[in-house]
Amino acid sequence: MYHADEARYENMTFQRCGRSGLKLPAVSLGLWHNFGRVDSFENYRAIGLRAFDLGVTHFDLANNYGPPPGSAEENFGQILRDDLAKYRDELIISTKAGYLMWDGPYGEWGSRKYLLSSLDQSLQRMGVEYVDIFYSHRPDPDTPLEETMGALASAVAQGKALYVGISNYRADMAVEACRLLREMGTPCLIHQPRYSMFDRWVESDGLLDVLEREGVGCIPFSPLAQGMLTDRYLEGIPSDSRAAKSHGFLQQADITSARLKQIRQLAEIASSREQTLAQMALAWVLRDPRITTVLIGASSVAQLEQNVGCLANRDFNSSELSSIENILAQ
Ligand code: NDP
Repeated sequence: MYHADEARYENMTFQRCGRSGLKLPAVSLGLWHNFGRVDSFENYRAIGLRAFDLGVTHFDLANNYGPPPGSAEENFGQILRDDLAKYRDELIISTKAGYLMWDGPYGEWGSRKYLLSSLDQSLQRMGVEYVDIFYSHRPDPDTPLEETMGALASAVAQGKALYVGISNYRADMAVEACRLLREMGTPCLIHQPRYSMFDRWVESDGLLDVLEREGVGCIPFSPLAQGMLTDRYLEGIPSDSRAAKSHGFLQQADITSARLKQIRQLAEIASSREQTLAQMALAWVLRDPRITTVLIGASSVAQLEQNVGCLANRDFNSSELSSIENILAQ
């Protein structure tokens, strides 16, 4: 029988999400990998519950997380039923629709038909009456943006979501999406883009400026570049790592010798800050006040604990920042 740690809110920092009333923990947990039917129930149950004990109140899902697609929502639903049911009001659960989920023309992208039936399926798999945040997972070049945003607004009107968000939308489209949602009376709560030391498109695209102007929060995914910004690959490719798994999205070809050189140099700076590289990489993303929370993944309780430990040192001096820039420019 699980009882949450009474001290769970003592060390977590909560940050306001844009100009909304909602605060999110500075570290959130994503269930893209490690929570599927292919993974160990005991392990992901332990990760999920330890996260909550550490004050990580936000769990991020999507219809297609697994593998197989849908199984991460089913597994999270089981943890909810078995362990977290009485804490539902302390949890922020998000899900998304956008990528391929079922056969035929209504099983992916951004139509109203797809988004609203996918949300119904997600609620059923998790066994919940509503999610806290429902996202359009990716922009659809063929569906009018008004229709996709209208489907998000309907999800809120129907009581199936409390807030809405967008993911993987570039700055110009995000402006338009925010305008439409505002006009529909359902302001955009949050944007979920990829952002890490190794992928800085949100800076060059102007997305962070847009989010600040619009009062929208930002929850970067893959802040550890799927594990590259850690000590995971310093001695080769471990057999239990994401890069080694056939269903893992990180490719071994991504771990080049140039990358490893940067990773080793960054690890030295982290060590001088008395942090692990993972902790420094997360603190670096959180250095920008426009970032609400970092959305991490973890394949073990130890990784999760280490990553939450990034909050102990979030400040960078100018010499550290310029050394990091020099390494990233190589
Ligand atoms: P990360 O960049 O945090 O990568 C997580 C992986 O890095 C872990 O599974 C683990 O890999 C490794 N790792 C984590 N911590 C450590 C550590 N301390 N030491 C060593 N290795 C570590 O994030 P993800 O790529 O997992 O993405 C996070 C979440 O973002 C997803 O779960 C999902 O919710 C969301 N997301 C959203 C997308 C979107 O389109 N909106 C797309 C992708 C993700 P290993 O298994 O090798 O141990």
